[in-house]
Amino acid sequence: MTSLPPYWRNAIDGDWVDGGAGRLDVLDPATGEKIAEQALADAADVDRAVAAARRVHLSGALTAMRPIERGRMVQAMGRYLLEHKDEIARILVLEQGKPLWEAVIEVEGAALYFEYYGNQAATVEGRSIPLGAGYYDFTDYEPMGVSAQIIPWNYPVEMTARSLAAALATGNACVIKSPELTPLTNAYFVHAAAAAGFPPGTVNLICGFGHEAGAALAGHAHVNQIVFTGSVQTGIAIASAAARNVVPCVLELGGKSAAIVHEDADLAAFDTDIRWGIFFNAGQVCSAMSRVIVHESRAEELIARAEAIASSLSVGPGIERVEFGATMGAMVSEAQRDRAAAMVTRAEAVGARLITGGRALNRPGAFLQPTVLAGVTPDMEIAREEVFGPVLSVLTFKDEAEAIEIANSTDYGLVGGVFTRDLDRATRAARQIRAGQVFVNEWYAGGVETPFGGVGKSGYGREKGREALWNYVQTKNIAIRMGRG
Ligand code: ADP
Repeated sequence: MTSLPPYWRNAIDGDWVDGGAGRLDVLDPATGEKIAEQALADAADVDRAVAAARRVHLSGALTAMRPIERGRMVQAMGRYLLEHKDEIARILVLEQGKPLWEAVIEVEGAALYFEYYGNQAATVEGRSIPLGAGYYDFTDYEPMGVSAQIIPWNYPVEMTARSLAAALATGNACVIKSPELTPLTNAYFVHAAAAAGFPPGTVNLICGFGHEAGAALAGHAHVNQIVFTGSVQTGIAIASAAARNVVPCVLELGGKSAAIVHEDADLAAFDTDIRWGIFFNAGQVCSAMSRVIVHESRAEELIARAEAIASSLSVGPGIERVEFGATMGAMVSEAQRDRAAAMVTRAEAVGARLITGGRALNRPGAFLQPTVLAGVTPDMEIAREEVFGPVLSVLTFKDEAEAIEIANSTDYGLVGGVFTRDLDRATRAARQIRAGQVFVNEWYAGGVETPFGGVGKSGYGREKGREALWNYVQTKNIAIRMGRG
């Protein structure tokens, strides 16, 4: 894209600023070529960004507003994203690698968060608590203050929207730490906030290295709340830093989510679940359907279907993949691609059967073939560890109890699924699968309205839905003694 600005700055207190740590090259994963430079924040920049957000919070400007007005501003941010949809989507493709049509879906999805949470702003109400004639007691929900949001590279637009919309709707000032690999599109949130009329410093945006700017933000004494999506290891580092300041976190740390497919399942319909569950965004989705646990009587048929879907996908540069369809783009980086390919090779070495894919494409760019592995057993690394790539592992079971046991046999617990026509069996599985969300007969059923988050190593706290609003507020109880005023 000829019009892509060559240098992107950070945004602190309403100004676009250079970074104390210099600049970073942003690469197009489809070509390996540099597309822009991004300012890199150091700890001093983080300090300024947090101070700006804190000033806005302490000014009371965000809480003085009637929530319905603040909600309208949040909604206006969503409309801003839609008005710039084509431009944002193209930049997202260039920095992240996904097909253009997927990028458009991501921007639209991001706008939906602003619509939804903008609508919710006026609904965050306290309640009165009866204490008898001598008292009048009620609760208020106050914003936490400064919300720090540390964003991953797989859905940089949607992930920021998810936390930012809810945080602003509830009256918080924010510091966003954008991902090093995909920092560019996040600039649009700063423009959107300004266009909507939020005071300068309400939305600050800094890109920096995780161990530098990220760590400085997570450990900052004036941050009041942290939202993080990323790896388990980084989640632990962030939660540890936050604990030192007694700051609450929401951690969304990925998964190894399983679909249980019973012998009575509609396998033709399940094709769609395979298509979206593991190949959307080249499998770089924390709630990806990375394991299918199928009844042994249907395994052969399912594997043949999975192979057909994987080999039907045309893989190549996302910018050329304009139309919704059977296409897949690059992974975010060659390092991520090589990591995923190496996991496939190790799985083959311990006895998994490579049905299709598994190799890098013979062309520049971070491309991995859509991959299906069969004969996977629960003890294998490929069945336990997150690949974060387009790699489906197929396992088999003999009876229901075994299926549940395999589904629950990893340290993760983000989402799960069960595919059957038997309502009782589906209900039993929904109760027994150890996960924050269970899909019955459709992977990714749900939306911005439904709470999302994990158990176990998948993290804690919930995003999306009304439930997420409580991440950004704290309860204050006000007790009035009557008869002494
Ligand atoms: P990945 O390893 O897949 O890049 P991470 O979980 O390390 O995923 O990164 C997700 C986000 O967390 C990025 O924005 C990254 O910069 C940030 N990050 C990485 N390490 C730290 C850290 N120690 N403290 C705070 N943020 C970090």
